[in-house]
Amino acid sequence: MNNSIPKVGFVSLGCPKATVDSEHILTRLRAEGYLISASYQDANLVVVNTCGFIDSAVEESLDAIGEALAENGKVIVTGCLGAKGDVVKQAHPRVLAVTGPHATDEVMEAVHLHLPKPHDPYTDLVPPQGIRLTPKHYAYLKISEGCNHRCTFCIIPSMRGDLVSRPVGDVMLEAENLVNAGVKELLVISQDTSAYGVDVKYRTGFWGGKPLRTRMTELAVALGTLGVWVRLHYVYPYPHVDEVIPLMAEGKILPYLDIPFQHANQRILKLMKRPGNSEGVLARIKQWREICPELTLRSTFIVGFPGETEEEFEELLDFIEEAQLDRVGAFAYSPVEGAVANDLPDHVPPEVQQERLARLMWLQEEISEERLKLKIGKTLTVLVDEVDEEGAIARSFADAPEIDGQVYINDGQHLKVGDLVKVVITDSDTHDLWGDLV
Ligand code: SF4
Repeated sequence: MNNSIPKVGFVSLGCPKATVDSEHILTRLRAEGYLISASYQDANLVVVNTCGFIDSAVEESLDAIGEALAENGKVIVTGCLGAKGDVVKQAHPRVLAVTGPHATDEVMEAVHLHLPKPHDPYTDLVPPQGIRLTPKHYAYLKISEGCNHRCTFCIIPSMRGDLVSRPVGDVMLEAENLVNAGVKELLVISQDTSAYGVDVKYRTGFWGGKPLRTRMTELAVALGTLGVWVRLHYVYPYPHVDEVIPLMAEGKILPYLDIPFQHANQRILKLMKRPGNSEGVLARIKQWREICPELTLRSTFIVGFPGETEEEFEELLDFIEEAQLDRVGAFAYSPVEGAVANDLPDHVPPEVQQERLARLMWLQEEISEERLKLKIGKTLTVLVDEVDEEGAIARSFADAPEIDGQVYINDGQHLKVGDLVKVVITDSDTHDLWGDLV
């Protein structure tokens, strides 16, 4: 190993959005000729990308910074925790620099200051799709930063600021590079995917010499022409979400919608500063399924929000029963430092929160089990994530990586990661499916 080339260690914590930030920083580091070190001892400096969303994430991030300081000593901190005032500097005064999220330029400035750039940049060693932390066959595509909403349980807007959409031409170029590099699935992420372009008044950009509006539907249409799976995440339930359902029915993008409803009771939604009423939402779901019967819906809910009564919680259960969502993530409300909802009266005792969470998950497990049973006998196209001597583990259009279920292919030992194959489903349980190659 050439000892004269500066080496940077990298610790990446947090959500997919933070992962994308890490990928951008790693790409810049490699583009400028730095090496990425796999150990603290071998690195000349360490960058820690932190998460500050909930208290446990803050702790994990502070521990990671502490470890990097102890093992290496030269540490630059970036990410959501960096945006939270003096938290980092107070806990670890020895860190060299602290930036917020989405701050590649500032991180690079700090790196240059403490570990000068090598003279002979190896720019040509960096592939055009950049350096990615996800496996080669799928990639997250971040389309915007920040959020214009002010949900009372969330501090993301105060950390990441208002919505800033990436130029649509840049997003499409990145998507094309990823596809050219072998990516089979693009996962579109942001804080609020359906708001894409609001900040730039849906400005018309350019892609491949043709005009293209900075807007979710138009972006979905364009991504749908790339010939890979396109999955939409974090879609806030605006009315124009209805526009992407026909694209799903036509097979242009995956019939999958990750749409956080958070609750069903009108009063609680209002306290959360979230839109919608359960009847309207149920009617829309019905309509969506009429247009696209295969549609898989994933949503998240918060139980035990301050002031939530037993009746209001039961209304949420009724909604879940009626909506028959495919995938549900649920969380007991936990007070995040700085969130407006903390000041609301009548916090629900933790034991009641946990009991409600268990009831909701129990109901959803029953629904999920029933819905997965309906897939037995069907033939699905799946994307292979892992292969071992017992077979292959894959996902169908209904499964986002890491958060949803999997499809186990009993006779898939000879497959390769990234293969798209057809499988007939033979068995199911609460979250996963089993099948044989067709
Ligand atoms: S829409 Fe999402 S990111 Fe924006 S404030 Fe609400 S929960 Fe936070």
